[in-house]
Amino acid sequence: MLTRIANGRVVDPAHGRDAVGDIWFSDGLIISPPAAAVADETFDAAGRIVMAGAIDIHSHIAGYNVNVTRLLLPELHRGGAAAPARTPLSTAGWSTFSTGCRYAVMGFTTVVEPAVSPHHALHAHLELADIPIIDKATLAILGNDDFLLGLMRAGESTAIRDYVAWTLSASRALGVKVINAGAATAFKFNARKFSLDDVVPFYGVSSRQIVKTLQRAVCDLGVPHPLHVHCNNLGIAGNVDTALATIAAAEGLPLHLAHVQFYSYGTEGSHGFSSAAARLAEAVNATPCVTVDVGQVMFGQTVTNSADVMRQFNARRQARPRKSVIIDGDANGGGIVPYDYRADNFHNAVQWAVGLELFLLINDPSRVFFTTDHPNGAPFWTYPDILALLMSRELRAEWMTRLPAAAVELTTLPAIRREYSLRDIAMMTRAAPARLLGLSDRGHLGPGAVADVAVYAEQADRAKMFAAAALVFKNGELVVRDGEVLHYRFGRAFAVSPGHDRAIDRRMTDYYQRRYGVAADVFAVPDAAIGRPDPIERVPCAS
Ligand SMILES: [Zn+2]
Repeated sequence: MLTRIANGRVVDPAHGRDAVGDIWFSDGLIISPPAAAVADETFDAAGRIVMAGAIDIHSHIAGYNVNVTRLLLPELHRGGAAAPARTPLSTAGWSTFSTGCRYAVMGFTTVVEPAVSPHHALHAHLELADIPIIDKATLAILGNDDFLLGLMRAGESTAIRDYVAWTLSASRALGVKVINAGAATAFKFNARKFSLDDVVPFYGVSSRQIVKTLQRAVCDLGVPHPLHVHCNNLGIAGNVDTALATIAAAEGLPLHLAHVQFYSYGTEGSHGFSSAAARLAEAVNATPCVTVDVGQVMFGQTVTNSADVMRQFNARRQARPRKSVIIDGDANGGGIVPYDYRADNFHNAVQWAVGLELFLLINDPSRVFFTTDHPNGAPFWTYPDILALLMSRELRAEWMTRLPAAAVELTTLPAIRREYSLRDIAMMTRAAPARLLGLSDRGHLGPGAVADVAVYAEQADRAKMFAAAALVFKNGELVVRDGEVLHYRFGRAFAVSPGHDRAIDRRMTDYYQRRYGVAADVFAVPDAAIGRPDPIERVPCAS
């Protein structure tokens, strides 16, 4: 089948392209325009914008904490649409089924679940396999686990590298995330505060040492995605100093800082809470090895869902509605705290502005990524509104009139004139995330790329435009037309499998037998478990 998308405005920054033209694809892959061929099907894209499928690098869409959230908050469930019978989890409200559909109608075709405890990886993968249309990947959480901290205490650096590789393979992850490094373990020793140079009791290693050790292991293994860091002191006034210290600690090696909106707070003003986004943006601009995603806040009811158990424990009294779950489990544990961000709330208004300041003050749209840390800052279906805010200072000014003036004054947002272009949007949501994750077959529209294509009807209301794509193709199949899902298919998961010394396999077998009384492979994700053909695609590592 030869398909042509004709006469659209093709915005493909990976190839320096922003011009009216055609995109051709065949057998699920983009091809060069054939010299004399006639397409089997042609879609007229005149007056429309054509981009690669979008990629979300950080969205909590599956796994243990997501399901605890579903159980805690039946009122957030969204039922309604009938699901194909082959998806067993899809009958639950706020479902895997609606996750895939809602992403697809916005033109998103690849999503990363960024916080999977290796011991719960099988559950996360089963649930991800149940999400229709999109491709996905996971990041494995390390940094509060007894085995790693034990190796660090013993100074076993080679074994650490092998252990990280073993964990990535066993849990089928694309990369490694560290969440408030060491704090969840310190929490078990009754610590309630933990910063970059605090030391984990018993193990005698600092948070900084854990971050540096994992950063080095990920680099040495050639894993394309840099260590993905959730810093210490999330949400606390004055925490910009922690984020700045973490950026300084990158020391020239790649490092990704997640949802930095939650780390860009100063202590100015009568509330002792202000925006420090300009300081953070300045540091990011000056540190090319560091990338960040934002974690934009939008107003409305949501739920915070995090493996940062210390933070969630400390935040539980702010729950709206007043219920929460704190899990002091193995390694990280986590917490579920519902939250309602309000436009008339001083702190929430500052947070909203901080996120936009970061997007607009970080110069390079290939180093600042588009996230709400779904669902922590806002649900992912608010993305079209955020894109519209980035593209229009007038719209931002209009929103600011609804916020407490005292909050807006403590930010630089009113003075920022920058507006994102469609090229900037395509860079931030397509080309750059593909590169950051090591997925060379997507994020662009060059020959050989997977035919994940989103076509939007050009309209002045950018929120409306991005909310309902005119056409979305996944692997060359038409899945969305005029904002409606037409066709369900199932994607695959990406993972890395770096080489490692087999001695670690024996060590892990012994460790699991001794500590848990079970075989290590109880926690692994076997290929047969997913139950669909070709569910996993291995992404090559550099070493
Ligand atoms: Zn997150």
